Amino acid sequence: MKAAVVYEFGTPIQVVDATPGAVGPHDVRVQVRASGLCHSDVAVQTGELPFPLPMVLGHEGAGVVVEAGDAVTTCAVGDHVVLSALIHCGQCTNCLKGRPNLCMWGLETIFSGTNANDRALRATDPEGNGLYQFASIGTLAEELICSEKHAVPIPDDVPFEAAALTGCGVLTGVSAVFNRAGVQPGSSVVVIGCGGVGLNVVQATAMANAATIIAVDLHDAKLAMAREFGATHTIRNDDAEATVAQVFDLTGGEGANYAFEVVGVPPLVRLAWDCLRVDGTLVAIGVHPAGSTVALPAEQFATTEKTLMSCLYGTSRPTKDIPMLVDMFRQDRIRLNELVTHHFALEDINDAVAKMENGRDARGVVLFD
Ligand SMILES: [Zn+2]
Ligand SMILES: [Zn+2]
Repeated sequence: MKAAVVYEFGTPIQVVDATPGAVGPHDVRVQVRASGLCHSDVAVQTGELPFPLPMVLGHEGAGVVVEAGDAVTTCAVGDHVVLSALIHCGQCTNCLKGRPNLCMWGLETIFSGTNANDRALRATDPEGNGLYQFASIGTLAEELICSEKHAVPIPDDVPFEAAALTGCGVLTGVSAVFNRAGVQPGSSVVVIGCGGVGLNVVQATAMANAATIIAVDLHDAKLAMAREFGATHTIRNDDAEATVAQVFDLTGGEGANYAFEVVGVPPLVRLAWDCLRVDGTLVAIGVHPAGSTVALPAEQFATTEKTLMSCLYGTSRPTKDIPMLVDMFRQDRIRLNELVTHHFALEDINDAVAKMENGRDARGVVLFD
């Protein structure tokens, strides 16, 4: 099976002919049918996310279960599934209070890139090297073996491409609006960064009936997409001070109720903070480089009561929220197909990375036959 692998930080991704291992009792083998490419994949390649190598990239995908271990109970051979990067134990205090995204067992597992059931590896490259899998799944491969905990069954009539997107970008963006921020009808919102996640923040704030939805990006093409996804206003962020001034103009001189930072660039967190009104809420969704820090004007803490909410994977609950998103898609109430700006063959993944990093691409997707 072909798989996209990072061997060394800062070097091109290699597409190798990998061999899957044996399916454990609680594992499933999934034939991947569609996989998105996300900024976090590139962060592994650059080393900003210092994951163990060599690693198969990809953490938003959908496919068909082709083999299931003897003890698997949550899905069966032939089931169509979305592959969730997040998994949870269901027993720890964070799981029990309804915050499965903070399950420390789940996070440790997916950061290890090893199988959730026994922390071993499930694939090898042609030289016999064991391959780690991004988020313990590694969807940028024709096939993968993972714990059944990652496989969320979906109806057979949902196209794989749309389904795949619900595994990361859509899940993160929509959940951040509903589960984390709790955006109120009539409110004003600024969304900084309109890629695969940010566009979903925009469309979810529109679903929440926010009155003013201001999309901010460096690229006109993404701002045009943001309008289609529900933005009422757009600002090309050529200059932070001018952007803040425009946000205040558009919000009656008060600033926004909510500002979402979706890029993972520290100065943009400061920009989001500055766009807020008194009592406003900043939701920091972007994945920032390891070791980076954010500077905020501390004198405002005692004068503005602004809130900074960090946000892990949208504060999502994948086993609940992925089926909800799929259901909304089947009812034509959420845009998924429109997120895809580019299809590419796995062999062309380095070109697809370049396109995304140039800001030309909201979501590139690989379709496997
Ligand atoms: Zn992602
Ligand atoms: Zn847990």
